[in-house]
Amino acid sequence: MAYASFKDFCVAADLCTADQFDDWRMGYSQNGSAEDGSAEDGSAEDGSAEDGSAEDGNKEKSSVGSLFELVREKSGKPETDFLSLIGQAFDWKPVDFSNLEPTKEALRKISSKVASQHKVIPVSVEEGVLMVATSNPFSTDLLNAVRFAAQGPVNFVLAPSEDITKAYEKHYGVGADTIDALAQDQVDEEEDLELMFGDEKEIAEGDQEASIIRFVNQVILQAQKSRATDIHFEPQEDNLQIRHRIDGILHVMPMPPALNRLQAALISRIKVMSGMNIAEKRLPQDGRINIKIKGAEIDIRVSTVPTVYGESVSLRLLTRDSVLKGMDTLGMTKEIEDPISKIIRKPHGIVLVTGPTGSGKSTSLYSFLNTINDTDKRIMTVEDPVEYEMAGVNQVAVKNDIGRSFAHILRHFLRQDPDVIMVGEIRDGETAEIAIQAANTGHLVFSTLHTNDAPSAFTRLIDMDCEPFLVADAIEAVMAQRLVRTLCPECRVEQVVSKEYLLSVEFPPAQVPGAKFWQGKGCDACGERGYQGRSGIYELLQNSEAIQAQVIDRAPASVIGQLARSEGMKTLREYGWGRALAGVTSIEEVLRVTQVSEDVAEPVENF
Ligand SMILES: [Zn+2]
Repeated sequence: MAYASFKDFCVAADLCTADQFDDWRMGYSQNGSAEDGSAEDGSAEDGSAEDGSAEDGNKEKSSVGSLFELVREKSGKPETDFLSLIGQAFDWKPVDFSNLEPTKEALRKISSKVASQHKVIPVSVEEGVLMVATSNPFSTDLLNAVRFAAQGPVNFVLAPSEDITKAYEKHYGVGADTIDALAQDQVDEEEDLELMFGDEKEIAEGDQEASIIRFVNQVILQAQKSRATDIHFEPQEDNLQIRHRIDGILHVMPMPPALNRLQAALISRIKVMSGMNIAEKRLPQDGRINIKIKGAEIDIRVSTVPTVYGESVSLRLLTRDSVLKGMDTLGMTKEIEDPISKIIRKPHGIVLVTGPTGSGKSTSLYSFLNTINDTDKRIMTVEDPVEYEMAGVNQVAVKNDIGRSFAHILRHFLRQDPDVIMVGEIRDGETAEIAIQAANTGHLVFSTLHTNDAPSAFTRLIDMDCEPFLVADAIEAVMAQRLVRTLCPECRVEQVVSKEYLLSVEFPPAQVPGAKFWQGKGCDACGERGYQGRSGIYELLQNSEAIQAQVIDRAPASVIGQLARSEGMKTLREYGWGRALAGVTSIEEVLRVTQVSEDVAEPVENF
């Protein structure tokens, strides 16, 4: 079916009435610019869709978006539905990037700059005709720019804007337009004009600097958007590799090949941002960047190490928002959150969080502190290093090279009248002893220990030469934890599992009938990983008189554990099963993180 104009189509498709359309167009024209008056003279109505001049939608002004977009928004239809209506009406074919790879030949025809500016992706070249995907088929600016860039015939096809953005990042690489502009030996016509009148060298250098700054910002922004915790710039023999760590797993970021030529400038820029010495290239350095991206404050710890191919730079992103989570977002169910909320408000005693590196211990401690952080409490922390600065909290960093150890600082804290003390980690007997002393003299102490489960915390402290009766007295509770990856909500499907399998992984037999499990198939939203984000699983041991007696008797952790279970403690794995049954994670993930071994953890402390 053909329509004379975009307006006819909108009316026929019941998107609006003719009057509404005119109203919108008028409002749009007034908002756009005075030159748009031509749209109201009626001449546009003659445009026929077949020759690609459905003029009504053409009055594009980048500041206000196109009339096309306005109508789509007003219609309230999802973009995909809207595009398929347009496609049927005007005979524009849809493309689906989930099973389509643009050809190299096509990609070469449209520069990253044009693709980025007009949000188009070249798809293929068929018999000399370039197929280009767009989500805004009525923009004359776009159509003209693409036809000009292609230097040949072009056929347009339709795809949702989100798919186009994703395809752009995948095939051109993040920041490709910036890098292309930098690497180009020749400059644009407009820039040529400026060069003729200005100091050529100065403009070129200033330009490069501004673009490098922009590129680094783009990389950080992209990392933040994909919830990466780390960005690694890794010089290799013939290119610069950039990898992100997302949910504990490393991913190579697609980057434009011209990047390696700008390696030195890039690394210098990051060193400047993080306050490092840019001339020093032979020694490792540490630094810090504090920036605000789209309103979110991001604290970045930067470290450089000289490798054979140049300086390798690692950025760890610490967003305040992600750290100072409420306890409700840590994956704690009521059965953990309720008792923990009470325990962390007690006047004295030790609360320990245990687990291997990368199990989210510090995130839990910070959320405890955040929960009880009030003006009527004096909170002091000793950390190595201070990971997040918290308002109203007195934080001290360990500096072993000048004798400022955990134990040393902690001893001094006791004279500073704190109510709550957080010790980043108990690693040695001396620190353990002072922490216990602090707890037994009326302070609430939070700390972490490297043990696999909660009951082992008691025996670990006794192994550090602490008096068993003091340990038994001081400890209020121990919470062991791990992080499981959470299933992608977009592609989560039910998983069929046999009873035999469940029993073989020690799933409680009584719960087997009717048990339902889930797995992630993998989709665009999760980058085919099947998981998005992470959540904690917990084992909470609350001290009791019976447990105290066992600790004083130097009972092994297994005996303390059995006793705690008889008093209602759920093990990490049992808690994990609950999360798998709730569809939060998979059986495999629970098994992966609850294997009894020190090396199951991933090297990421925050999530
Ligand atoms: Zn998915």
